[in-house]
Amino acid sequence: MHILLMGPPGAGKGTQAANLVKEFDIPHISTGDMFRAAVKEGTELGKQAKACMDAGKLVPDEVTIGIVKERLAKPDCKKGFILDGFPRTVEQADALTGILKDLGLSLSCVLNINVPAADLIERAVGRRICKTCGATYHVKFNPPRREAVCDTCSGDLFQRADDSEETMKNRLSVYEAQTKPLIDYYEKAGVYREIDGRQAIDKVKADMIKVLKG
Ligand SMILES: [Zn+2]
Repeated sequence: MHILLMGPPGAGKGTQAANLVKEFDIPHISTGDMFRAAVKEGTELGKQAKACMDAGKLVPDEVTIGIVKERLAKPDCKKGFILDGFPRTVEQADALTGILKDLGLSLSCVLNINVPAADLIERAVGRRICKTCGATYHVKFNPPRREAVCDTCSGDLFQRADDSEETMKNRLSVYEAQTKPLIDYYEKAGVYREIDGRQAIDKVKADMIKVLKG
């Protein structure tokens, strides 16, 4: 089960990746984790990536692709993996196809947890977080019993600066522009499947498993 998991910020991709790890007993490989591991292990590519990040520069494609290649060649990926955060461009997608081919593998499925921008903005703008215990609420979908007060610890609730309509709109338009060519790429390859991410978490999970096992 070699899965590429996609989804806009706030669609619950992390939660669903964890569900798939449990269901199929395969590793979740996110770009961030891969970079951190390569840096920690002190591999040649890890050193190059670290030098770029320390200098505040983008890690060049050949380094990123090299790190992905080393990671996917590890024995725990034989049975499968859930790739998350890579590829971000069609060039990287081509590189991934090549890496997998060299390993005698191919993507089983590209799952996109799709949530319309308007819903994601509504989710973000209504989110409130407890200053004291970190519990999360939503003014409409999961309101606290008393306005702006945490149910469990009576702490004050606040809104993260990132959860503004403006910030979300910008993040989503960047994401959409970046993702559209990838969706086309994987649709053409015949492996692209969309999951309705507006549903309850358990229903999203059930839909993903149904698609993957079907
Ligand atoms: Zn609290």
